[in-house]
Amino acid sequence: MRPISRICRVARTHRRTFSVTSRRLDNYAFIGLGQMGYQMARNLQSKLAPTDTIRLFDINKGAAETLAQEMKTQQAGGAAAQVADTAAKASREADTVITCLPEPQHVKSAYQSILERQLSRRSQPRLFIDCSTIDPSSSREVASAVSSALPNGQGNFVDAPMSGGVVGATAGTLTFMLGAPDSLVARAELILLRMGKRVLHCGPQGAGLSAKLANNYLLAIENIATAEAMNLGVRWGLDPKVLANVINVSTGKCWPSEVNNPVPGVVETSPASRDYSGGFGIGLMRKDLRLAILAAKEADAKLTLADKASEVYESAEKEERCKGRDFSVVYRWLGGKE
Ligand code: NAD
Repeated sequence: MRPISRICRVARTHRRTFSVTSRRLDNYAFIGLGQMGYQMARNLQSKLAPTDTIRLFDINKGAAETLAQEMKTQQAGGAAAQVADTAAKASREADTVITCLPEPQHVKSAYQSILERQLSRRSQPRLFIDCSTIDPSSSREVASAVSSALPNGQGNFVDAPMSGGVVGATAGTLTFMLGAPDSLVARAELILLRMGKRVLHCGPQGAGLSAKLANNYLLAIENIATAEAMNLGVRWGLDPKVLANVINVSTGKCWPSEVNNPVPGVVETSPASRDYSGGFGIGLMRKDLRLAILAAKEADAKLTLADKASEVYESAEKEERCKGRDFSVVYRWLGGKE
């Protein structure tokens, strides 16, 4: 894996307005309508012109049908929505294909099905935007399959993993980490800003995923360290709010200590204060950590804390009282006082 060669830069932070009068007709495909994709597709469709079309596909046909129905009954504007039977049919006429799938194998199989079928000729090169969190190597493999199937720049694949969770996907406030050549940034950004509020261009294809996984590796460790430090302080007799206040104006300050504090009641809005519900699921943290470790091995980067951290998340997830909850539930797994 190549290291990120450039510092991430904020491509744009403002929302754009779109003229619907002088535009040509655009076709979109959205594949993978789970917790994130469903909301993202809904936001995208509502901001497209009525002359545009969005074709929806998920192996769970019910999700596509419910979403198409919701799109049709919404009051104002939006692109025409259709349900497709396969990823290939959804993509056949599409100028832009967006995928939002769970794991590398799902992304590979969806693109295999898209690329083995004849895609119709488009007036502009096709853009494939994968928002799934997968490893950069798998992403580059798919990118290369796209350029082989659609040679001479007729198809381009970029990675745009996101942060902001289901809340951000619903509100349209996601942050995307884009891995794309400079020449495709403006086009990808225009589409992504219909589903989010910020696009960080991190470098060439694959760089968005590298940035996302490096960040989430750090988060995985910080979360465990915060849970341990809070547990330690409480056992020494410190009031958890007093301890959090000290940390948050001192050198230990981090997102888990300040925003997502793992001790119930310290931050009223944190998942810990609502029995660790909502937030960033422990299963997703374990998955991102696994992908970061895989990518680190390929880059020959030494990670001394990774195995231990994986062990912690795996062991916590096996316990019924922690399973399916926000990843700060590690504090409960440690035996922290609630
Ligand atoms: P999800 O499991 O809720 O949804 C995935 C959807 O993909 C499901 O509806 C499933 O039926 C569908 N699917 C699976 N294989 C398919 C295929 N071959 N073709 C078509 N559809 C297929 O997952 P999610 O929470 O929406 O996450 C999607 C991606 O976004 C993941 O890679 C995840 O790591 C990442 N992500 C999630 C969050 C979050 O908070 N949920 C935050 C940031 C990033």
